[in-house]
Amino acid sequence: MPLQIVHHPDYDAGFAVNHRFPMSKYPLLMEALSARGLAEPAALNVPDAAPGSWLKLAHAASYVDQVLACEVPAKIEREIGFPVGPRVSLRAQLATGGTVLAARLALLNGIACNTAGGSHHARRAQGAGFCTFNDVAVASLVLLAEGAAQNILIVDLDVHQGDGTADILGDEPGAFTFSMHGERNYPVRKIASHLDVALPDGTGDAAYLERLNSLLPELSARARWDIVFYNAGVDVHAEDRLGRLSLSNEGLRARDDMVIRHFRALDIPVCGVIGGGYATDVAALAARHAILFEVASGYA
Ligand SMILES: [Zn+2]
Repeated sequence: MPLQIVHHPDYDAGFAVNHRFPMSKYPLLMEALSARGLAEPAALNVPDAAPGSWLKLAHAASYVDQVLACEVPAKIEREIGFPVGPRVSLRAQLATGGTVLAARLALLNGIACNTAGGSHHARRAQGAGFCTFNDVAVASLVLLAEGAAQNILIVDLDVHQGDGTADILGDEPGAFTFSMHGERNYPVRKIASHLDVALPDGTGDAAYLERLNSLLPELSARARWDIVFYNAGVDVHAEDRLGRLSLSNEGLRARDDMVIRHFRALDIPVCGVIGGGYATDVAALAARHAILFEVASGYA
């Protein structure tokens, strides 16, 4: 069976091309996946919007209601980084439903990936940092509530620290949050994960991969994980506008392969989400996000 990919055309909320958030990377990622033969009909799954009942497992009911009604206070919209109109609200519900669906497909098939997700700055009370709903936290809590998983590991390798996920899942005994990120990157005030590894500016491929390679056995030894959520943010890349870690495309590929190989060798399901990536050359950015899918397809 081909790698199961979750995608919805409305992941693209249609921002202006010069917006700080490169929204056009979503359709361009699908073009890149098609060009690589990874987006055949048998590979594609279309998610439903996450219902409010799921979203409220992770977020304050009042905030969920504000997003669903497109009545988010201006102060919170400023922290998110864009206004929450109908398309942004729908996009957040679909991306979250997409990560839940990808998690279910990973449990069935061993591995699956969402072409969105990794909105790890959204905390319990509200969204922030381009993140409206925390899809991985919602999906974790849905799986735990349904009894589909008892022990969930989050491996967050986006260049930014996973503060929102740490906030939501910090007291959840069924989930363990791990974030490896740029020490000097957003957010300034980090919320402690169960395990945080902060890397200095300019950490390149070799030092990054060596550190990761030493951490993975430590993570897998902590519990018998039922599923791993892997945030494969590409803002660790040297040409990213926001990141500070200087990885190359080859480094990204080696990183993704190291993570997926480690957990699949232990027969632990892996649900991949794309996380962050910010570049002026959005086609190059989409190709960077495609690396996750290229690597994951080798394990499907
Ligand atoms: Zn990021």
